[in-house]
Order: sequence, then structure tokens, then C-alpha cells
Amino acid sequence: MLKRRLGKTDMNVSVVGFGGIPIQGISFEEADRVFAKALDEGINFFDSARAYTDSEEKMGRALARSRDSIYLSTKALSRTGAGLGDEIETSLRNLRTDRIDLYQLHSVGTLVELDAIFEPGGAYEALLAARAAGKIRWLGITGHSREVILRAIESGLFDTAQFPFNPIEDEWSEAVIPAAKKASVGTICMKPLAGGAIRNHRAALRYELSRGMDVVIPGMDEIDQIEENASVGAKLVPPSEGDLVDLHAEKVLWGEKFCRRCGYCQPCPNGLNIPFLMLIDGYYTRYELRDWALARLGTLAKKFCDCAACGECLVKCPYHLPIPDMMKDAAKRIL
Ligand code: SF4
Ligand code: SF4
Repeated sequence: MLKRRLGKTDMNVSVVGFGGIPIQGISFEEADRVFAKALDEGINFFDSARAYTDSEEKMGRALARSRDSIYLSTKALSRTGAGLGDEIETSLRNLRTDRIDLYQLHSVGTLVELDAIFEPGGAYEALLAARAAGKIRWLGITGHSREVILRAIESGLFDTAQFPFNPIEDEWSEAVIPAAKKASVGTICMKPLAGGAIRNHRAALRYELSRGMDVVIPGMDEIDQIEENASVGAKLVPPSEGDLVDLHAEKVLWGEKFCRRCGYCQPCPNGLNIPFLMLIDGYYTRYELRDWALARLGTLAKKFCDCAACGECLVKCPYHLPIPDMMKDAAKRIL
């Protein structure tokens, strides 16, 4: 497995890392086997999140004995200093470690939200305090909005940026990836298989690694997936002409119905959280994490069936997604 330095950090990460979403759906014993296989294949970068239910605990249990030869990365949604400080302590306990290599502010959605992080008492203070105390080593941000991630990169306050980049969501190569390279901010490729939409896994990973992403972190919960994905890291080659044709076909297939979770369609006058509902639909249909999806759906006051098809969101979505139709289809599938 080839390794690369992650931006300005001292982390020499395997180019294929491990995304911690799907392990939520398997047992602790199965997760032990999956992590053992990942280690065997030379994967040394493991990414989780406080929001991924028991993902951190599974990672901590399986990887504690290998702690000194791997990098642990996680993230939390809290935007206050006190809240994020508590989340970091929980992550340390779950991951069974006294230091986390990379701690990220998870899913920062708007510039207003980003600005609030830097205010007195905001989450950034907690990151600095935890770093000073030796509890975390490097600071990162994750998100789906290109303007937010670009601003975060240009602030010089983050060591890494994690964002969705794949052959369907390739808009990031215009400004964000070049800006990250210029600032030596490490690039972590979230959703390299477009949340399970892309079938030619090797081609997609080669595409991303050849277009400026330092590390790709496909979510994995099966031994075969690990073998297939890790094989890409043995020798870095760009996708072949045939692969590019395949990937373009996948883009055409999904392009008109693939939500990037950028949030531009919000607010919905009927109170639907459109990007979150799209996320739930993706988890239900593509990741097959049905219990997770139904539990999240249960917390929402407005669900797919509450879309009144008013059409307000249609003009705001830059990707021209047929949102009311997608809500209607999801309502049939999920409720
Ligand atoms: S529906 Fe469109 S605007 Fe709304 S989050 Fe998805 S891609 Fe962005
Ligand atoms: S069409 Fe549906 S989701 Fe879109 S703004 Fe109207 S009610 Fe909200």
C-alpha cells in the first residue's frame, strides 16, 4: 500500500483509508475481522465520527493494539467550545486512546456556521485547547458546501479538509482542490464511491487519487470490499480510457438524481430539511443502513410525505434535481 503525506501534517497515510459509516451495520465481532483485514492490507488511516453511532467504539476495540502504527481520525457536530470539548473526551474513550491524530469539525454547512465556530466560546477554541493538552494532534473540517470548505482552507486555520469528491460530484476540482494544494491542506475524499452509487470501485478511486485527493476513505464492512479497494493503493495509475467511459456513464445515470447536500435548496417553506432527507434516503437505499435511516427519520417533524410539491426548491437547486418527485418516490419506498 502506497503512502502519502497528508498536507502539512506529519501523517504518512495509506492512499486508501477506511471510512467508518458502514460498520455501524455489523456486529462488534464482524467489525474486528473487517479491521484486521484492513490492517493486513496496509491501511493505516481510519476515519469515524461521533454521529456514526457505535463506529468509534468498534474502531477503538479493534485497533487499540495497533495504535502506534495507525492514524485515528474522527469528527463531531458540536459548534460550541464546551460541547466540542465533551465530544473530544467521548471520542478518546470510545477510541481507547489518549490522543486522536485528526479531529474535524463535522459537516459545517454555511458561512454563518463557519464564522460562529471562531467566535469566543466557539468550537475552534476547544480544538486549540485539546491540541495544547496533547489530546488531538491536527485540526480538520468536513462539509458539502464548496464555498465553506474554500473559506476554511483559505483561513489557514485547518490542516485538512474532507469533502465529497467522485466522478459524479467533480465540481470540487475547479477551485477547492487547487486551493488546498496551494495551502498544503490535506485532502480527504469523502464518498469516493458516491455513497454506494458507483459500481466500478477501482476506477472511481483511481480517478480521485489522480485528481488531487491525498487519501480516499471508502466505507467498508466486508472483507471482499477491502481487498478490492486496497488493491488500488498498491500501484497508483490513472483510470484507463475504458474506465473513464464507465464513470461517465455512471455520472449520466445518477447525475440528475444525485443530491450533493450543498443546502442551496433551503429553506423549504413547508419545513422539510431537504439535504437531510436526501441523506436518509441514501442511507436507506444505497448503504442499506435501514434501522439508522428510520431512527433519524423518526426524529424529523417533516418527512418525505410532507412535501407539498410547491416547486420553490426546484429553482434553487444548482443541479436541477427533481426534488418534489424524489420526495414522492422516497415516501413510497421508506414509509
Ligand atoms: S437538492 Fe440540490 S440544492 Fe438541495 S442539497 Fe441536494 S444538490 Fe443541493
Ligand atoms: S417542493 Fe417540497 S421540498 Fe421543495 S420547497 Fe416545496 S414543499 Fe419543500
